Amino acid sequence: MNLQFTRLTNLAPTAHFVQWTISNVAPTESGVFHFTLYRSGGPDGPWDQIFSGPDQYAYKDQLNAVASTFDNLQPNSLRFFQELHYRLVCRLPSGAELETKAETGPLPVDRKMSQFMRKAQRDFRLSLKFNGGRIVVLKKKRWGERCLKCFDKRSKEVVRPNCGACWGTGFVGGYWAPFVTYARSTGTSNTTAIGPNQKSDANDGTFWIPDYPTLERDDLIVRLSDNRRFRVDQQIETQIQLNCVHQEIPAQELPRDHIIYQYALNPDTIDPLY
Ligand SMILES: [Zn+2]
Repeated sequence: MNLQFTRLTNLAPTAHFVQWTISNVAPTESGVFHFTLYRSGGPDGPWDQIFSGPDQYAYKDQLNAVASTFDNLQPNSLRFFQELHYRLVCRLPSGAELETKAETGPLPVDRKMSQFMRKAQRDFRLSLKFNGGRIVVLKKKRWGERCLKCFDKRSKEVVRPNCGACWGTGFVGGYWAPFVTYARSTGTSNTTAIGPNQKSDANDGTFWIPDYPTLERDDLIVRLSDNRRFRVDQQIETQIQLNCVHQEIPAQELPRDHIIYQYALNPDTIDPLY
């Protein structure tokens, strides 16, 4: 099992976005995964605990709020010009612990360039509101409570891809809370592959989305304008990506009779993260 950060990105002037994943979760681990996140100005601490809670894949670190007026708390924006270190501890259902560390940056040597990069990220996010559309990102669960209905401990496989309790992921609920964002997408192209015995239709598309959250293979993208649902196609590097302005995501449209269209999606549900 491997706990690692997959995104540390600067949402100046309000927050740092911190995202993580666990790979190769042992089939015996089932239940509540508890995370504690710490922040420090240096690699060796001292560490300030900034979050502690169960079952999350990301956290928006609002930094240390400073009072600009008596009743108006503002994030400490000086923090955006300094390298920050994060340490994450995960307590597994079995009681064992995983730990990982990562740092924001390294900051570009030229401070002007780091400001340009942040501006490019922000401009890209903003431009999508005009030339893109709203989407919902559903991050697939890769840990949590195993679905008893279909997870076979011996074969370690999901045996019912049409399971309505875990949506074929093997974990109860299937996906984390919806994350609403904006994206631009290509028109889907219809490619028909004719094999010796069968003919299969696939609609491929490419999405351009902001630099966070990091998407991985099998996460879902739902286009809110027409409720078409896509599965992220390509394995996107799960190592932490720095200096990323946007993500280009190849995705495959799921057929209308796919069980995931029964997954009730309410984009107005407030993500418990934020
Ligand atoms: Zn299931």
